[in-house]
Amino acid sequence: MIPYGRQDIGEEDIQSVAEALRGDFLTTGSKVEEFEELLRTFIGNDCIVVNSGTAALHSAYYGIDIKPGDEIITPPNTFIATQATATMLGARIVFADIDIQTGLISRHEVAEKITERTKAIVLVDYAGQPCDIDFFTSLAKNHGLFIVQDAAHSLGSTYKNRQVGSLVDVTTFSFYPTKNITTGEGGAIASKNKTILSRAKLFARQGLVRDPNLFLYKNEGNWHQEVHDFGLNYRLPDILCALGISQLKKIQVFKEIRKSIFEKYKKAFEKFDYVRTISVEEYSDPMWHLFPIFVDRKVRGDLFRYLQSAGIGVRVNYFPSHLHPVFRKQGFEVGDCKNAEAFYETEISLPIHTRMKSSEIEHVIQSVKLFFGETCT
Ligand SMILES: *Cc1c(COP(=O)(O)O)cnc(C)c1O
Repeated sequence: MIPYGRQDIGEEDIQSVAEALRGDFLTTGSKVEEFEELLRTFIGNDCIVVNSGTAALHSAYYGIDIKPGDEIITPPNTFIATQATATMLGARIVFADIDIQTGLISRHEVAEKITERTKAIVLVDYAGQPCDIDFFTSLAKNHGLFIVQDAAHSLGSTYKNRQVGSLVDVTTFSFYPTKNITTGEGGAIASKNKTILSRAKLFARQGLVRDPNLFLYKNEGNWHQEVHDFGLNYRLPDILCALGISQLKKIQVFKEIRKSIFEKYKKAFEKFDYVRTISVEEYSDPMWHLFPIFVDRKVRGDLFRYLQSAGIGVRVNYFPSHLHPVFRKQGFEVGDCKNAEAFYETEISLPIHTRMKSSEIEHVIQSVKLFFGETCT
């Protein structure tokens, strides 16, 4: 089976983890700061690492002080963690539909959905392509809103030659094995706003206050730490930070490989009437996490099964969040976000990862074409 995505672990990754295992700390040692420093240099912004992309979103929302009743505007075509973690802090989710050509949240839909209870606009860089940051920044500024960028797909992408991670109030990343780099499980939060980042960090470190200047109890010994608000254990262990360090050193190489696979697919389907590929905005230079194709909804299911039986690991990204039972019971319905629903009904993600062989890419392309040759003539 050709996996739709997979990690790329080399000898240097194994060495790096082995070295961490021989060290004094398995967690909360020097590898954490080293990884954070390397990430900071790469994205050009302050950041902290946590143990998943989900944890990063949860901490980021806490960082901007999401409270019960706050509204956040999100697209439906994302992994449910984008909404779940905000909901758990009491946010009300407002869905804005997407641009069907790019899969990115629609500019005018977001503008229409802003109310006086809106706290943040959440951008999801679908497939690795950044949203139109300049547009959303000025919109957010006019209404006094935060921008959260769920960049689980887009570490390594640039927007107008600026790295994703340095563009908005707070950005989150995931280092899950299929993502652009991996730590097994892991994630990060980036922000140039010191208050947001220190709140996120406190939340991800059990809420433990360690700065004596902030203590309510001034006369305890130097063992003392206090909790002023609850947090969780979202620490990323040193062992995994060691993997992150060696992975991040290879990100530009990974990006070039992903780009070349993207170009091969794009070219192969350019003049092929049965398949539409994603539109790319000229402002961006994405590190492609997914290669989505769009076909007639009547054959999507059949094509999916056909590719699977040809040994091709395909996926569908994503079932629209607002149609999950958890949101249906809050009153969301089919038809609420027509583009995101049509996007879902016609989409298939083809394999894309840095270990793909040319023959595998060719097999995927030929299998898609063969399916249409057999069924549509
Ligand atoms: C993967 C992903 C997440 C969650 O990341 P985990 O590391 O799996 O917790 C969040 N949002 C999007 C868009 C993702 O693709």
